[in-house]
Amino acid sequence: PEVLVSVHEARLHYQVGGAFAAMRGKSTVVKAVDGVTFDIRRGESVGLLGESGCGKTSMGRLLLKLEDTTGGSIHFDGEELGEVRRHRLKKFRSRAQLIFQNPFDAINPRFTIRATLSEPLENAGIPRSEREDRIVKALELVRLPEPEQFLDRYPHQLSGGQLQRVVMARALILQPEFVVADEPVSMLDVSVRAGVLNVFRDVRDRLGLTAIYISHDLALVRYVCERTIVMYLGRIMEDGSTEDIVREPLHPYTKALVAAVPVPNPDQSHDPLPIGRGAPDPRNPPSGCVFRDRCPSAHARCASEVPEPRPVGSRLVACHLF
Ligand code: SF4
Repeated sequence: PEVLVSVHEARLHYQVGGAFAAMRGKSTVVKAVDGVTFDIRRGESVGLLGESGCGKTSMGRLLLKLEDTTGGSIHFDGEELGEVRRHRLKKFRSRAQLIFQNPFDAINPRFTIRATLSEPLENAGIPRSEREDRIVKALELVRLPEPEQFLDRYPHQLSGGQLQRVVMARALILQPEFVVADEPVSMLDVSVRAGVLNVFRDVRDRLGLTAIYISHDLALVRYVCERTIVMYLGRIMEDGSTEDIVREPLHPYTKALVAAVPVPNPDQSHDPLPIGRGAPDPRNPPSGCVFRDRCPSAHARCASEVPEPRPVGSRLVACHLF
């Protein structure tokens, strides 16, 4: 089928405060993901955009079954992720991979590059005789020149950009169809970001990957993704083609994000948002529209009624103005 990933009313709610707080009536539920619905077509690249705490990383973890939903459903290639267990989970893990933000979340500093890249092959039961060849090919894929010279090196002997390519090679070595990249260049120097992003785009196109690119940075999402989903406090605010969103943002939150990015200069993408920094405490979101207390267009209805995403042209927008 055309759709690879189908998310329907997905929720990830969890208790904070523990048993003691619960006894005193103080525990609260954080709705990290709260009723999110979208489909991803095969070969599509979708950016998940929002400030920290908006639920984009939680959404990425749900998509890879690193966390289970507490409500709703996620289907991968027609199969409900909640039903995927044991041997089928192993198969799923080889088809869907995470590219980490921090290289040291993905690789052990005491392992050589060879050992780092052997591990997933070994876990997948690839015979030893084939591994070296696959490792060299994966390093070539991410454009590390003369891959053989890296095999016996340790992570600290590589530059940040080289290390992030190794992380990418590790995620790609089992030839997945679907990757979730979580802020993959945020730890890198601005000067090497473009190089790593170019490798990501190139590999994605060559392998025909379906990709989710998680970022707080609209300029980076624009560089990588044809479609963007804007999230805020666990909910989707706007979902549409990246060019439409950059050219004419509709949702007031998207407008603020776009206004903060003097596109196309990615170096200045950290200007303060015109609506002020920082989402409200996720344990205590506003009633009605979760964006209400920062929204310049908030009106009475926004306090009482949650806006559901509705089609506006070819986009979906969750706002009572539409
Ligand atoms: Fe602003 Fe109301 Fe739209 Fe929410 S629903 S974004 S508060 S106008």
